[in-house]
Parts: sequence; structure tokens; C-alpha cells
Amino acid sequence: MIGKSAFSCCTKLQSIQLSSSLITIEYAAFAFCSSVKTIILPALVSNIGAHAFKHCECLKEITIPASICTTQYCMNKYSYIQPDKNYLGDYAFENCYSLRLIIVENPLLAYQLIKSFDYEYNRSIRRAVGIPDATKIEFSKTTSQRDKQIYDWMINHRCRHCGGKIGVWNEKCKSCGKSKDYKD
Ligand SMILES: [Zn+2]
Repeated sequence: MIGKSAFSCCTKLQSIQLSSSLITIEYAAFAFCSSVKTIILPALVSNIGAHAFKHCECLKEITIPASICTTQYCMNKYSYIQPDKNYLGDYAFENCYSLRLIIVENPLLAYQLIKSFDYEYNRSIRRAVGIPDATKIEFSKTTSQRDKQIYDWMINHRCRHCGGKIGVWNEKCKSCGKSKDYKD
């Protein structure tokens, strides 16, 4: 286990090698490690605490292992993640501006991935606002087509007029202000 805030603000830390037997990374363990470029999460890692990697601003790529988030709770947007189950914490990757590739090995990791970045939530709509535009998300081979479409929609919901991002609260474009139903 790597404890709460263990390496937080180690701004000169450039690379991290984790033990293959590591299971739990606690709250904010690597937050503000702003020089880290690569983190390889071992295959057994099951719990990533809230804010664990936030502001790792040089982090380019992350693979979220299949061992994370294997309970039904992760599939259901209305229920919470039980803390004693495998999970990916809220805002775990918030403000990781340089992330260009996220590899998601667990096909059930849907809503929780959105919540691991900055997100907006309004009734049943949850949309990632913090995943950088240039970030590619590579899904597990067994993720259903439907789930991929849900991800696409939550991540890339765009204005038809200018391509800006649509806010979840008023369903209006954040760039040009037009409603999502606007047609040229
Ligand atoms: Zn627009």
C-alpha cells in the first residue's frame, strides 16, 4: 500500500517504479508530482484513491489495470462506490493536462472513469470536462459498442455550430453560447 499523500508534492520526482504486489494507492498519494512522465500501475492494483494522481502535469500515458473496478457498483451511475471494493477514486487524474493516452483494461469501468477527471453532473447526465481534447482513450476489446458510444458522448459532446463543448447545466455551447439543438 502507498499511504495517503505519501509522495504528494514531490515535484522533482521523474519516474516511479511500483512493486508488483502493490494493491492500494491511497488518497492523493502522488498528487502534484508535476515532473513525473510515466507511471506503470502493476496488474494487481485494485484501489486508486481520490485525487491520487491529480496535477501530475507531465504524465503522458496511463494504463488502468483490469483489477480496478470489477464490482457492479462501477456500472451503475446512481450508486456509490463502496470503499472496501475495488475502485478508481474521484478526481484521481484531475488536471493531468498532458495525458494523451488512457488505456482502460476493464470493460466495466465506465462512469467511474469520467469521475476520475473533472466532471459535470446534472441529473442523469455526467460529462467529463477535464479530459484533455487530445487524449485518446483505448478501450478493452470486450467493451460493448454501446458503452463506447456512451463514453464518446460523455467525453466529446460538441456544438454543431462551432465545435465547442456543451455544458450539462444549460445544454449550451461554452464557446458560442448556442443551444445544443441549434442548426445553421
Ligand atoms: Zn458553439
